[in-house]
Amino acid sequence: MKSFIVSVDGWPEWKEWNKLSERIFVVYRKPKEICMFSPEVSDRSDDGAADLPQSHRLSRHQDLIDQLRECGRLFHARRWSVGTSSNYSAVLASQPAELIVTASGKDKGRLSRTDFVLIGPDGQPTEPDQPKSSAETMLHVVLADHRCWSHPSKPEEIIASGSILHTHSVWGTLLSDHFFDQGGIEFSGYEMLKGLEGITTHQSTHWLPIFENTQDIRALAAEVKTFLQSTPEKMTHGFLIRNHGLYAWGRDVFAARRHIEVYEFLFECTARKIQLGL
Ligand SMILES: [Zn+2]
Repeated sequence: MKSFIVSVDGWPEWKEWNKLSERIFVVYRKPKEICMFSPEVSDRSDDGAADLPQSHRLSRHQDLIDQLRECGRLFHARRWSVGTSSNYSAVLASQPAELIVTASGKDKGRLSRTDFVLIGPDGQPTEPDQPKSSAETMLHVVLADHRCWSHPSKPEEIIASGSILHTHSVWGTLLSDHFFDQGGIEFSGYEMLKGLEGITTHQSTHWLPIFENTQDIRALAAEVKTFLQSTPEKMTHGFLIRNHGLYAWGRDVFAARRHIEVYEFLFECTARKIQLGL
């Protein structure tokens, strides 16, 4: 865990600091300075960062893997991917799908470069001796094949690559149950909606569908595929699974990560609005 020094001159007392950010903690205080640490600047970022050998099947994709590892550190620190939950992928090709997916059961705050699997269109590893992929791999395959990140906001663009990220946050889990009976959540009037690709004004209405949870991922993947084929305009950037979590995608890892952040912001606003009776 790294620490850093912040001058105390002009700063409020440390109790006020705790109110400003729950992810920054005061360790001790000297007369002229405060020593603090934060999970987001911890030395965990160095874990598993050894270069993959040239002979490794994933060595060509090390940059993409590092982008996904960065998502893991960020989402874990924000408590959206705790307890080894969640899974992330970078799409290399569609129809037939080829993806890099996180291996099953890994701590997302400490992903190493070898914690990823190369997957083919059947959701199986394309080469032997790879770690087991996430149990939800087929959802990634269906989304990759549909190239959902280029549809329908800019259907003229065919973007073969993309990224799909999945989180298990508290707000997303609670709201997925609260709004399940109406089939999804409608967001409107939020400036933050403009963080979703293709949305240019806060005066927009955005629908996020919710699917029932199941351990039969192939059945859920088929349901998602049918939805994408029949009503793509109702599932443009992601979906929720009831009492489970969020899937969101983008044309690359950065866009997918931005969409996760936007949705998590909208979830918290929506939930707190309900709490406040607004
Ligand atoms: Zn999950």
